[in-house]
Amino acid sequence: MFEPGAAPTRCMHLDMDTFFVSVERLLDPALNGRPVIVGGTPYQRGVVAGCSREARRYGVHSAMPLRQAYELCPQAVFLHPSFTHYAEYSDRVSELLEDFVPVMEKASIDEFYLDLSGCGRILGNEESWGVRVKHTILGELRLPLTYGIARNKLVAKVATNVGKRAGDMRVPEGREADFLAPHPIRIMPGIGEVMERDLLNMGIPFIGSIAALSLRLFTNMYGRVGRTLHEHSRGIDHAPILPYRRQKTLSAEHTFNEDVLDPRAMEAALKQLAARVGRDLRERGFLTRTVTLKLRYADFITATKTLHCDYTNADHTLYGIAERLFRALYTRRVRVRLLGIGTSDLIDDYGQLFLFSEEEEKSDSLYAGLDDIRRRFGKHAITYGSVLEQRQEAGRRTQDAGGVVV
Ligand SMILES: [Mg+2]
Repeated sequence: MFEPGAAPTRCMHLDMDTFFVSVERLLDPALNGRPVIVGGTPYQRGVVAGCSREARRYGVHSAMPLRQAYELCPQAVFLHPSFTHYAEYSDRVSELLEDFVPVMEKASIDEFYLDLSGCGRILGNEESWGVRVKHTILGELRLPLTYGIARNKLVAKVATNVGKRAGDMRVPEGREADFLAPHPIRIMPGIGEVMERDLLNMGIPFIGSIAALSLRLFTNMYGRVGRTLHEHSRGIDHAPILPYRRQKTLSAEHTFNEDVLDPRAMEAALKQLAARVGRDLRERGFLTRTVTLKLRYADFITATKTLHCDYTNADHTLYGIAERLFRALYTRRVRVRLLGIGTSDLIDDYGQLFLFSEEEEKSDSLYAGLDDIRRRFGKHAITYGSVLEQRQEAGRRTQDAGGVVV
């Protein structure tokens, strides 16, 4: 029986192989077989977001400065990350995985946990089932991956990491500590560069060396982190699999106090709605490519119209589209009762992972700043000039009328 929040008893971890490069190669097969580095041009300040096996052979790895990657492998193809494509493919992987088990966690853009607890009768043999999942994704999306199956998330993830070189792995029940023991501490999730150096200096090179020492040694050094580290080294992990729920739509509506005919009032309402939807998208970490405008006339006749755009979560882009839709929709000389902006086809926004063009960066940090001010000072603390004008004109006494105008 599945209890939400309970640790799994069997768990599969999947990690897509060189995910960004794999997607780039689907988009451009000419990249096959060539060293590929995703992150930007070699002269940019950024770092490597992903690279192909061919590039790794030259010593290139993720998070390495692009300039250094270029020195090691000047013949590589350098690409700007097209993260909306990565997010789309990531969503398609999630969809396929959701068909296999009732509980799936999306840990990152290319990493997933499946809860296999109590699924024995459906799955049958774990090994052949794992192969089936892998081949389904390879067959349907042509994306390679590595997986590990074990009692808990930690051991399954280490199994995947080991499997990147050694092939997919399954750790039988009760063999968790034995499996971990001979591996270098670096492979353990949660051990960063600093801790690795610490432990190596103390003569602790393998996971098994941690397990062999007393718990007290690690709690004295690292407190609670030390306790977890010691548990992990013995293959114990109580972390639950956090069910993934894709939010498909997000919207906001405004019903006017009195039905309106004044286009400026409608424009102001649209701006506020766009700002609300934009903020919701950003707070939840989404981008949208589909915007729908809803317009209800005073006689309750309702019209809607939809437009596709490039993925966005920026207020001004959403407003621009909403305004175009409004001009197309508002065809009767009848008062308007309600306006609404809806967005669908949402994908996760992984943009903050990468270094983008300066303009995008500026607009991103502008909105982050605005969202922060709104959170601290109330949602009307910052608003567009025309919205403010409308409010003042309407003679409404609003405490936020003195907000910053942008
Ligand atoms: Mg990966």
